[in-house]
Amino acid sequence: MTSSSERPLLFLDVDGPLIPFGSSAGHSEIAAASSTTADQGNPLLARLDPGIGERLTALGCRLVWATTWREEANEVIAPRIGLPRLPVLEWPDADAGGTPQGLHWKTRPMVEWAAGRPFIWVDDEISAIDRLWVDASHPGPSLLHRVEPAKGLSGTDFGALAAWLDTVAPR
Ligand SMILES: [Mg+2]
Repeated sequence: MTSSSERPLLFLDVDGPLIPFGSSAGHSEIAAASSTTADQGNPLLARLDPGIGERLTALGCRLVWATTWREEANEVIAPRIGLPRLPVLEWPDADAGGTPQGLHWKTRPMVEWAAGRPFIWVDDEISAIDRLWVDASHPGPSLLHRVEPAKGLSGTDFGALAAWLDTVAPR
């Protein structure tokens, strides 16, 4: 039933999953601020695993950036990890209203993008509120996979993603 054009979406965060922080909260703002002036001298970029793009591609999902790096993820991150240019999740309209307190800014736009299709969200900032929101508003399968930001995406994470994909969209 599942054709290649219907492969699950995978919304991908950068700070934390691809750029591990080595410790905990508070660093994401620093990383996001740094990304606005991302250049060759950004020391955070040295934390990127050049082989991780290939592992992500091998999952067979339609990858979408879901990160405060936004379009800079295509310019700065993608070439360093072997990914092509990807679509970018946009910030929701500030006046859209109705977003519950504590809901991540990415959650509603991702659910709207998915439009009922299976999706994975890989991020270090997934909360219980996000899970409740997706359960209530997304009729299709979803995997909200929280990555430990001190470590970044690991083999264990990839194993969990692959196992979920096997159940939802076996190839
Ligand atoms: Mg993050």
